[in-house]
Amino acid sequence: MEQTLGTAARPLRVAIIGAGPAAFYAVDALFKQPNLLCQVDMFNRFPTPYGLVREGVAPDHESIKTVTRVYDKTATNPNFRYFGNVTFGKDVHLDELLPLYDQIIYAVGAQSDRRMGIPGEDLAGSYPATIFVGWYNGHPDYRDLTFDLSCERVAVVGNGNVAMDVARILVTDPEALAATDIADHALQALRQSKVKEVYLLGRRGPVQASFTNPELKEFGELEGVDVVVDPRDLELDPASEEALLTDKNATRNVTTLRRYLENTEYTRPRKVFFKFLTSPVEVFGKDGRVSGLKVERNRLEVQNDGTLRAKGTGQTEVLDVGLIFRSVGYRGVALNGVPFDEKTGTIPNVAGRVINLATGEQQAGQYVVGWAKRGPSGIIGTNKPDSLSTVQSMVADLAEMPGIADSKRDRALIEQLLKDKGLDYVTFPDWQVLNEHEIGLGKAQNRPRVKCTRVDEMLEIIRQRATPQS
Ligand SMILES: Cc1cc2nc3c(=O)[nH]c(=O)nc-3n(C[C@H](O)[C@H](O)[C@H](O)COP(=O)(O)OP(=O)(O)OC[C@H]3O[C@@H](n4cnc5c(N)ncnc54)[C@H](O)[C@@H]3O)c2cc1C
Repeated sequence: MEQTLGTAARPLRVAIIGAGPAAFYAVDALFKQPNLLCQVDMFNRFPTPYGLVREGVAPDHESIKTVTRVYDKTATNPNFRYFGNVTFGKDVHLDELLPLYDQIIYAVGAQSDRRMGIPGEDLAGSYPATIFVGWYNGHPDYRDLTFDLSCERVAVVGNGNVAMDVARILVTDPEALAATDIADHALQALRQSKVKEVYLLGRRGPVQASFTNPELKEFGELEGVDVVVDPRDLELDPASEEALLTDKNATRNVTTLRRYLENTEYTRPRKVFFKFLTSPVEVFGKDGRVSGLKVERNRLEVQNDGTLRAKGTGQTEVLDVGLIFRSVGYRGVALNGVPFDEKTGTIPNVAGRVINLATGEQQAGQYVVGWAKRGPSGIIGTNKPDSLSTVQSMVADLAEMPGIADSKRDRALIEQLLKDKGLDYVTFPDWQVLNEHEIGLGKAQNRPRVKCTRVDEMLEIIRQRATPQS
């Protein structure tokens, strides 16, 4: 008779794709399940773990990154193994993992961006915020990009925290950034930057903005930066006034914006203009490069369902900007062989169980967590209960699962497969070697770390002091 899955005789074998917060919270939740013995192998695209905590969170938000200590603790469990520098869909495929794991969790985040859908959007100088964020954070895919920061004015389209990060990095004194883990190439470029003014465009009003209040307040604390708010934007319509009664963050934001209005002497060298009720309409270009952005003033209209929609008034103006970053949402990318919902940019699921979108049928043994599951919303902490709920679905399904063949349960099989494919995978101890190296370089410069931004350099540093994974 077959032993029950998840016992010492037959530990549950789980593969997890991705190494961001959602992945680590899922691993932690699995290890904390009572009476469940589980072995987890994590596969990640880069040698470096932590997903957007390393590649997204702004360099001047260092304290937020300390959350990785919790993930490191999870990684000390002997039933955890890390295989970095292994891309699912390119280096390993679903049909290779299915025979080796009882359950697979997709924790791949949202790797792409949404478009504005306006003429001129693809001119040189108009970019998704995703790649600018990746560039200043040393994401290997974007480290060789160059942004022409020789213009004085930049538009950032969007009213979420990512838009706030991008605007803040553009106006912060580079010498303040020099004390962070910002990528060296970005610091160098920002030191030469001529950018003086950033327009932050939100299509709806301040009450509907999704940025959080600490991020808004940060602008008021930046050395050498004036915050400019249009008083018209703070004359709220009745529906927005009503929304304030139940929305604490919006109330705080409106209070902060009203405080910014009190400053009428704009004497500081750099400025951030909050332009609410403003939509981009067309990007103008000269010689193939952005030369301006036509925007339209909106008003808010109450919909049948009570929500407020931005409606163009026909009143337009042209912002004299040389660079545009759109931050109108991240979006998932389909994984080879895994169901994908093009409309939402997520992996279709019910309570974390991956389903076939057309038939609604559950894909046996496949699960999803984090931004890949629910779209690009929520802070790091939001992923913890979200991952737990998927793990609860996984555990509930165990009784009905036959599990993989016993002959495929050997933990060495995946290592052999990766080696046979000639893959230079990175273990968690390997990553720790690189981590120490980066921190060491940082110490010498009074910075938290100096990031290594090329995969081949990362591998070289690791290989100089390789230690085997148990
Ligand atoms: C610019 C930005 C700034 C943010 N700042 C903050 C902040 O200050 N505070 C806060 O609380 N939250 C912040 N967030 C939100 C937070 O980063 C997310 O909630 C969180 O990272 C989502 O976790 P995730 O694990 O779903 O995705 P991710 O963090 O994106 O992790 C996905 C992982 O999957 C890997 N992967 C993708 N495809 C493959 C593949 N095919 N094969 C193998 N691996 C793959 C990636 O390499 C990555 O490791 C920010 C987000 C962004 C975009």
